[in-house]
Amino acid sequence: LKLDEVECRSLIEHALRVISRDLEQSKVKVTMDIEPPDLYINVDPNKMIQVFINLFLNALQAIGREGTIRVQARRDDEEAVIAISDTGPGIPEEALDKIFDPYFTTKPQGVGLGLANVRKIVEAHGGTVVAMNSPEGGASFIIRLPFSPGYE
Ligand code: ADP
Ligand code: MG
Repeated sequence: LKLDEVECRSLIEHALRVISRDLEQSKVKVTMDIEPPDLYINVDPNKMIQVFINLFLNALQAIGREGTIRVQARRDDEEAVIAISDTGPGIPEEALDKIFDPYFTTKPQGVGLGLANVRKIVEAHGGTVVAMNSPEGGASFIIRLPFSPGYE
């Protein structure tokens, strides 16, 4: 890992720019709620951008035409907590414990490596990522990243 202190907001905005075509072709809105607004994280920017791109593309595909992707980030003691939630149909209960497995996919053209890669990258930073469904129905991915990973 090539760790660097980067602003959480600019990293997420970078990922959104990479998928701007896909976003523009849909009616999906993205909301960002980062507290403090200049929250910094200690990550390998190139790797972490891949994490966000994967989660955003999955959210877009789950939502389909119209909906919202919500990004929330906050400081929690020694960790940054970043949640990416969508207004799609959510993850089927029976798939919840499999979605991070390599090659697990429910999509006809899916490869099933996106979330395996997400978990690999987050864990390489000493962090964790979990998936859940929100009571309102959509899926939510919660990433916890230590400010001092102690890895290089
Ligand atoms: P792929 O996108 O190629 O299917 P992923 O590893 O990215 O592979 O995702 C694995 C599976 O997890 C998906 O096929 C889908 O069933 C489920 N999944 C991932 N993200 C979401 C989401 N935001 N909403 C609902 N299901 C999801
Ligand atoms: Mg995917």
